[in-house]
Amino acid sequence: MSDPRSSIIIVDDDAPTRKLLQRQLAAGGYPVQSFGDGRAALEAISDMGSGLVIADWIMPVMDGLELCHSIRELEAMQALGSIYFIMLTACASPAQTVEGLNAGANDYLTKPYDPDELLARIRVGERFLRLQDELRQQTVEFQKANLELLMLSRRLDELANSDVLTRLANRRCILERFATAWESAERDGRPISCLMLDVDRFKKINDTYGHEAGDAVLKGVADRVRGTARRADLCGRLGGEEFVVILPNCPRDGAASVAERIRGAVCAKPVHYRDKLIPVTVSCGAAERTERETSPEELLRQADDLLYAAKAGGRNQTWVLDADGQPHVVTQVTIAPAE
Ligand code: GH3
Ligand code: MG
Ligand code: MG
Repeated sequence: MSDPRSSIIIVDDDAPTRKLLQRQLAAGGYPVQSFGDGRAALEAISDMGSGLVIADWIMPVMDGLELCHSIRELEAMQALGSIYFIMLTACASPAQTVEGLNAGANDYLTKPYDPDELLARIRVGERFLRLQDELRQQTVEFQKANLELLMLSRRLDELANSDVLTRLANRRCILERFATAWESAERDGRPISCLMLDVDRFKKINDTYGHEAGDAVLKGVADRVRGTARRADLCGRLGGEEFVVILPNCPRDGAASVAERIRGAVCAKPVHYRDKLIPVTVSCGAAERTERETSPEELLRQADDLLYAAKAGGRNQTWVLDADGQPHVVTQVTIAPAE
């Protein structure tokens, strides 16, 4: 089956020329509308979407050149589909041909014209419009595929960087972010601290309530960590029941307060699992980078040592180093575990 013929709009102020053209094109199987000047034709051209326009140059109200300019402007504003514009005029000098083509005409034909040549040029226009249509469709499909790829790659990133159970940054991701934040702090001469948190007697929670309940506790703790930290803080799960929070631009005392707030948030509200309320506490070590620590790993180790001291000191507490580098418990807030 052959493609349906393109719609053609004829614009010419001379009625006999319009009639003749209409007859010739209709004989070629083209649906045709005709108008006596550019302004009258413009609305019909807008309604047509894509198609061919055959226009005279010299006309009253709006001449062919103005009409061509208007069509190209509307196209640029995407208020029109694609228009293949053939100027059919008695203006036959090379300079006029150049002017017509420069105005945006796709083709330029002079009167008197040969009807077969006009039909052949119309077919060129149709091929042009078809190709443009195909290109547009391909672009839409390409953009759709691109969007899907982008979403897929975001999802992959998310999967690669987040811990499946808690949705916090996973071990690899939080360590990478720590390294980046460490470099920025070093470069800008700003403080940076880190917290190591560990759920107290978590094994007992698993043994008492089951592994699934243990998972719910980990999620609950992660929610409280996330909900308590500032926007700029980086929270992650190192593994098991161990969490880390990186605090850019935060000195030791600030880190101790954040740790205490997290500890308070955890033990103030037991984790709801099915019909049970499970009391949970965490211990925490908080450490600020000083000249002594030369890498993020060293600061993490120091926070881990302080966490160990918090465990040894009775759990559900935060430990930091004092000004002399001696570990001690933070006693800003006294919080009893929820029953
Ligand atoms: P402490 O107060 O000294 O930290 O004691 P603890 O019982 O919390 O520490 P321990 O290291 O003895 O036990 C941690 C337990 O956490 C053992 C392990 O089976 C469990 N665990 C590790 N990862 C997961 C997990 O993803 N889900 C659950 N439910 N349990 C986990
Ligand atoms: Mg533990
Ligand atoms: Mg542990």
